[in-house]
Amino acid sequence: MGDSIETKIGLEVHVQINTKSKLFCGCTTEEGEPNNNTCETCMGMPGAKPVTNKKAIDSVIKICKALNCEISTPSFFSRKTYFYPDLAKNYQITQYETPLGKEGFLQVENTKIRIKRVHIEEDPAALEHAGGGTLIDYNRSGIPLAEIVTEPDIRSPEQARNFLKKLINILSYLNVIVPDTTIKADANISNSKNNFIRAEIKNVTGFKEIEKALLYETKRQQEEEVTKQETRRWDGTKTIVMRSKETEDDYGYIYDSDIPKMTFTQEYINKISSSIPKLSDERIRELTKIGVSQEDAKVITQDLFVSDAFEKIAQKSNPATAAKWFRKELLKRLNADEKQIKEVNIEALTEIIKMIHEKTITEHTGRELMTKIYDKNFSPIESIKKTGATMIKDTTTLKKMCEDAIEKNPKAAVDYKKGEEKALNAIVGAVMKETKGTAKPDEVKRIIEEMLTTL
Ligand SMILES: [Zn+2]
Repeated sequence: MGDSIETKIGLEVHVQINTKSKLFCGCTTEEGEPNNNTCETCMGMPGAKPVTNKKAIDSVIKICKALNCEISTPSFFSRKTYFYPDLAKNYQITQYETPLGKEGFLQVENTKIRIKRVHIEEDPAALEHAGGGTLIDYNRSGIPLAEIVTEPDIRSPEQARNFLKKLINILSYLNVIVPDTTIKADANISNSKNNFIRAEIKNVTGFKEIEKALLYETKRQQEEEVTKQETRRWDGTKTIVMRSKETEDDYGYIYDSDIPKMTFTQEYINKISSSIPKLSDERIRELTKIGVSQEDAKVITQDLFVSDAFEKIAQKSNPATAAKWFRKELLKRLNADEKQIKEVNIEALTEIIKMIHEKTITEHTGRELMTKIYDKNFSPIESIKKTGATMIKDTTTLKKMCEDAIEKNPKAAVDYKKGEEKALNAIVGAVMKETKGTAKPDEVKRIIEEMLTTL
């Protein structure tokens, strides 16, 4: 019966928008000493007037358009009233009736996940429970967040993870979130066996954890009977009931008349739309058309800057070779060296890839040249001229080197003739050392085999 149970999952994703100042005041969003980055507005003092951060609005409109949403105009802010020490005003400025974006979708492989709404809101303060008391840091209070809410169109925990990965990829392409941001989400989940009575799992951090929490909850709901809506939390191994779920209507949302309504002209919306770069789906399609494998294209397009650099290099060299070299060498190297693609000398990298493709140098030499890839003055072509590390194409020279190596390793030669295939490695290794890696091992092996069998 397990297989016939249908699961429905909806997500509410929260991400921080990467502005310099907060959503309604000039306080910095950078980290600092607790409660230093505050003013009367973000502390909710009487008479303080919020002023909307235009850059934050632009960024969220950009998200809305990338997620195929309709833009609400006019759009306004509402106060979500509740008492908790993380809110100095006793209300959070958010959006309820008129989210900036609504009725969009995100295509995840073959499934269209509908986006119900995208809105902007302020982050409350951070609470830290320490030494029997609670510390409050209002530095976070007023930092702009975007909330992205899906319809319950997701069918499995795995699909939820794929959705989140895709979403983060898009947000990073739009350059609207803090790099390497950790995603936070609430997830609602229900199944057909329990008449789709939902549980909401609050505030799970990171997409691996979200998937784990959903896997746990899927199983729990299949085994247990669910009779009422409830809110649960994830402790890392299981979900625990917190309270019966309140609905959004239980909060008192009231229109915030301190903040002017926003209206968006078609011209403004078009301008934002045209600032959206080509996203990864389109790039993958284009790359596979010019001979890059699907697998390489997916890896390369995970990062906008890597993808941009690749497009530049692929125009001047062979795309398939460039892609292979990016995935197998460049990305691993960046990771190991803790460097960014922007620190790479792209011209030098192009030269290396070209020489490898044209077989002017071996991959071994290519890897050695790669160690100098962060030097902006480095010229691989000049370097090769100096060291003479071009690939040995002259067979006569190579044959002479092979002959010498056989002479210097008589025991290995005899062993090989006796049938010990491994003995050949010693001779091949000696030749490779002599050529400083500028010969192809396969070719060296072939020449030596030929010599030993005809000797
Ligand atoms: Zn402030």
